Amino acid sequence: MTAYRGRFAPSPTGPLHFGSLVAALGSWLDARSRGGEWLVRMEDIDWPRRVSGAADAILATLEACGLEWDGEVLYQSRRTDVYAAAFERLGTTGRLFACACTRREIADSTLPDSSAHPVHAFDAASGEKIYPGTCRNGLAPGRLPRSWRINVANTVLGFNDLIQGHIEQNLESDIGDFVVKRADGLFAYQLAVVVDDAEQGITDVVRGADLLDSTPRQMHLQRLLGLPALRYAHLPVAVNAQGEKLSKQTYAPAITVRKAAEALNAALAFLGQAPPAGLVGADAREVLDWARRHWSIGAVPRVRALPALMV
Ligand code: GLU
Repeated sequence: MTAYRGRFAPSPTGPLHFGSLVAALGSWLDARSRGGEWLVRMEDIDWPRRVSGAADAILATLEACGLEWDGEVLYQSRRTDVYAAAFERLGTTGRLFACACTRREIADSTLPDSSAHPVHAFDAASGEKIYPGTCRNGLAPGRLPRSWRINVANTVLGFNDLIQGHIEQNLESDIGDFVVKRADGLFAYQLAVVVDDAEQGITDVVRGADLLDSTPRQMHLQRLLGLPALRYAHLPVAVNAQGEKLSKQTYAPAITVRKAAEALNAALAFLGQAPPAGLVGADAREVLDWARRHWSIGAVPRVRALPALMV
């Protein structure tokens, strides 16, 4: 039996807020309640979005909340060589292809007669047009490669999410050929996360349901790279009064050290864990200790989004 190993993988684009605390707490509790390890990985590969000081601020807040991690924090920005090696391996699968299309060209594209996407031309989640497979069979004369994509022809993937139930996705009609190396030269999140989860020996991914739609792409990459399959549990995402995911862009306030215990109590209630009234006023470690002993993944609401209990 493989021992449990979970992780929290924030993008350091701002301080920890209620939404990211929910993801940290849910993954910590699932790991610790099962005697597992819990790792932290800074997903700072997308350095143009990185905010200076955010990674240290996130780690300081995790510490103030008593959410201790095992081992060293892994920083994606230091791992380009490892992603490059995985990218090389993808090149041997027959599924990787160079793409010359700009965003504009994809948005303006009309579907070719032999379109890979006869039914859905738009990604329901992002509203963006699904890549119509233009460069799948080679670049048109005179065109130069910009990004690199994975051909997802005839790929339907399903999995049993421990919270959200059975999820199935037709990668071809729901997502389209997706980017693993971007036009700016950076490796895409989808590739980095798969490589890192495998290298860190992660067994269980507990994270926000905003990433549910990414999971089949990640499973597809795991299979192409011959990496182990993982278990997944997607927690409801905390949204504000406008229904927007809490984030720096929607001005979600930072969890302050002074409010750590209060925030943990609110995050537990959000996760359906009904902390007893006696925990109000307790310190962060007491709250966590109760929560670890009483964690029930079955009590987590089986929905993709819920109003935040603290903003
Ligand atoms: N870095 C991603 C985020 O902050 C999470 C990635 C993951 O948990 O797989 O949204």
